[in-house]
Amino acid sequence: MVKRTFQKIGVEVCPLGFGCMRLPVRADKKIDRPEAIRMIRSAIDRGVNYVDTAYYYHDGESEEVLAQALADGYRERVYLATKMPIYDLTQDVTFEMRLEHQLERLNTDHIDFYLLHCLNHDLWQNKVKKFDALESMKKARAEGKIQYLGFSFHDDCALFKEIIDAFDWDFCQIQFNYVDTDYQAGLEGLQYAAQKGISCVVMEPLRGGRLADSIPPLVKNELPQNKNHVELALDFVWDRPEVALLLSGMSTQQQVDDNLTYASRSAAGMLTEEERAAFARAAEVYHTMPLVACTGCRYCMPCPFGVSISDCFSLYNATVTRGKKKAGEAYAALTGRAELCRKCRQCVSACAQHIDIPAELEKVKACFAE
Ligand code: SF4
Ligand code: SF4
Repeated sequence: MVKRTFQKIGVEVCPLGFGCMRLPVRADKKIDRPEAIRMIRSAIDRGVNYVDTAYYYHDGESEEVLAQALADGYRERVYLATKMPIYDLTQDVTFEMRLEHQLERLNTDHIDFYLLHCLNHDLWQNKVKKFDALESMKKARAEGKIQYLGFSFHDDCALFKEIIDAFDWDFCQIQFNYVDTDYQAGLEGLQYAAQKGISCVVMEPLRGGRLADSIPPLVKNELPQNKNHVELALDFVWDRPEVALLLSGMSTQQQVDDNLTYASRSAAGMLTEEERAAFARAAEVYHTMPLVACTGCRYCMPCPFGVSISDCFSLYNATVTRGKKKAGEAYAALTGRAELCRKCRQCVSACAQHIDIPAELEKVKACFAE
């Protein structure tokens, strides 16, 4: 497997990291543990050496399952990344309490890559600064509990730069793909961090899967035609030298196999100028589509009134790819339709994409009522 290097810290990694946010699940929504463990181990056996989880992925089950997958000698073969649920911090719930719980759940004495999760304006001011989380990170590192310090990010580029400048970070994690080059940290943030010696881990290279199997035909027409859409989207990210690795939240063994093949032929600077221009045109067309930028992460769920928020947006977006009739039939069969929304706005602050959820649900309602 080819390797890439985190600039500042010199750590060598496989270009593909295993994201444990979308592990295979059973009918009851619990993780299919035997299958998930088999998939994670098969990826490690074939060169993956960075695995990423978070305190609340799969309602906390992800860290437990990852610990099982990393038993029998697998822990020593990977860099383990997880994230501090910074939004939880209060006078009673401390950084140290959450970290100790993670070490216990992950059955390890240290975490290699530790991130403050999902930073935005609110969390930066009202949690990180208020509870001195940066000092807590330094202390935990001095105690050998965490090694490399970073943060994951979902807000505007100005804040990203402020955070980069505020601390001696080892790495960071941003959303980046060919339709999000001017969104959140974006290309400007990626390059800004790189100038300071900080390499990025990239999340959402497929925008929650939407760049895999539900690309509108007009966007497809603009993309290079020589590869399938998943490989194209991943190559767009790997082309950037500022990227240390990309995370794929893999749900099937087939995805693991395919992504490993794509990673094995990846390299910084792999695209031609013509291909880069094609991605730029595809992004331009994509942004003219009446789509909601939902990645299906489900951070906004559950809705107290039973709205299946991500399903509503997924079906609304599917009107462009599957046609309004088919999407409408699936919407009619959905139990948590947009009509249930009471506009309480409880979900809005949880959305990593800053979607005005009740307003967008109005559009979903109107679209399917026609
Ligand atoms: S605003 Fe609507 S979708 Fe969001 S939590 Fe309230 S009722 Fe649910
Ligand atoms: S609406 Fe926002 S929080 Fe909810 S699933 Fe979509 S992107 Fe995630």
